[in-house]
This record gives sequence, structure tokens and C-alpha cells, in this order.
Amino acid sequence: MRKSLLQHTSVWENDELRVDVPYSAAGVSTTVLLTSKFTGKMMLMDVGDGALRDLLSFGSTAFVNEADPIAITHGHFDHIGGIHTILGFMRMLKRSSPLNILVPVGCTEAISLVGAFKQSYAGSHPFRIQIHEIEDLSGFDTDFFKIQAVAVEHYGLENTSDEEVLMPALGFRVRVGNTVVGYTGDTRMCQGAERVVKDVDIAVIEATRKDTDPVDIPVHLSESEAKRLGTLAKQYILIHRTPTIAESSTGSTRATRSKREKCTPD
Ligand SMILES: [Zn+2]
Repeated sequence: MRKSLLQHTSVWENDELRVDVPYSAAGVSTTVLLTSKFTGKMMLMDVGDGALRDLLSFGSTAFVNEADPIAITHGHFDHIGGIHTILGFMRMLKRSSPLNILVPVGCTEAISLVGAFKQSYAGSHPFRIQIHEIEDLSGFDTDFFKIQAVAVEHYGLENTSDEEVLMPALGFRVRVGNTVVGYTGDTRMCQGAERVVKDVDIAVIEATRKDTDPVDIPVHLSESEAKRLGTLAKQYILIHRTPTIAESSTGSTRATRSKREKCTPD
């Protein structure tokens, strides 16, 4: 596997849970998969572009019927870009059990995308899709996953004014048996981010910014902030790195969005 892909892939496991990050790169795609080793039940957290391809790279279609719920941290394209494809694949393979999709209250991007799918195939998809708008400190339990949502602080670009505005954004704490996972989603350093990872067995933490990157508005955690946050958890892995773009005629560069952090994709 090429080094560039390895940098964006992570796995962690204990005797009852496996956490796979088949791919995570800022401004491209992030998908996190939890799999209970006892039940085979799965939960997805964010489904970025290529999520289906990345899940199939494990060599199984078990997620088609075993994944529930799908929890979306926020509406940036790199966290929800794969939702239509995942739902379409589940429809094609005739998933039968209901699917719950958790989104932050007011997350219009995810609500619209899922709504468009449901509308497009009204009456012709074999499983029920229920979208749940959830808020800070609200819980959502299935028989296998106990989920607590925690509001975090993440900025989105308001293109009409070119301003940065806080957007609906959540991190998730998920209990599977005796194991607790914390996933920050995208966030700047804030109380919510600390609450997500505090004392969990494994924290999945975004670490988008290099410490040397100049910052106007802290949209994301820096690497040192992410590591500091990680010390609140028993173990942690860092994801959502800014991808290095290969040499081109204009020279080596990294994904940028000026006026914010100098290298801050979504
Ligand atoms: Zn984002």
C-alpha cells in the first residue's frame, strides 16, 4: 500500500471491539467503523466519499445488514459524501432491517441528502430509514450500542459573507459492552471535545493542523492539542490529517483554504 494511504488508515481493537478507520483525510473523506466482536454488529461514524469502497476493502458486505446506526458528526462534505452510495448499496443488496441515522440538530446537509434518497426511492427500498436529530448530551441506544452525543465547536465557511460560523457539530461516546469509544468529529479545542474523550478506552481524535500552521480561527485541533486531549483517554489514535498533495508544476503544497487556518479543509 502506498505510504499516502497508510497515513490515513487506523485500527484499534481489544477483546470485544474493533475500531477501523479505513480512511480519514481532512477535506477528502472520513469513515469510522465499530464492530462488536461478540455480536458482529456494526456502527458507522461519518461516511465520507469512498466509504463504500473503503468498507468493501475489508472483503465483506456484512455492514449491509449489520450496521446500525450511522452517526454523522457534522455536515461537511468530507464526512457525509458517501451516504447516498452506502444507502444505495444497502438498497441494492436488499437490506431488510431498519436503519437509524443520527445527525446533529439542524444539520441540513445530512438531512437533505438522506431525505433526497428516501424521496427518490419512495416505496422501492426494502428497509426503513429513520433520521434522528440529536443534541448535546442526548443519548441514543440500540441493543448493541449505547451512544451519547456531545456538542463540539466546529466552524464552517459562510460563503455569502466569507465569514466562519459555528455549525451543528457533535462528538460521540459509544459504549459496546465494557468498552467505551470517543470520537471527536471535527472540533477546535473546547469543553465538549474533552468530554468526548474523558476516560474512554480508545479516543479517535482529529488532528488536522500541524503545529506550525498559522491560525486565524481555530477550526480544528492542532497535532499537539489532539495529543494533549488524548492523554484524557486510556489510548488514542489521531485521524483527519491534512493530505500531502504530490509535487506539481506549482510545487509541493497541501490542501489549503486561505483566510482561515492556512491549511484547513473541512
Ligand atoms: Zn469539518
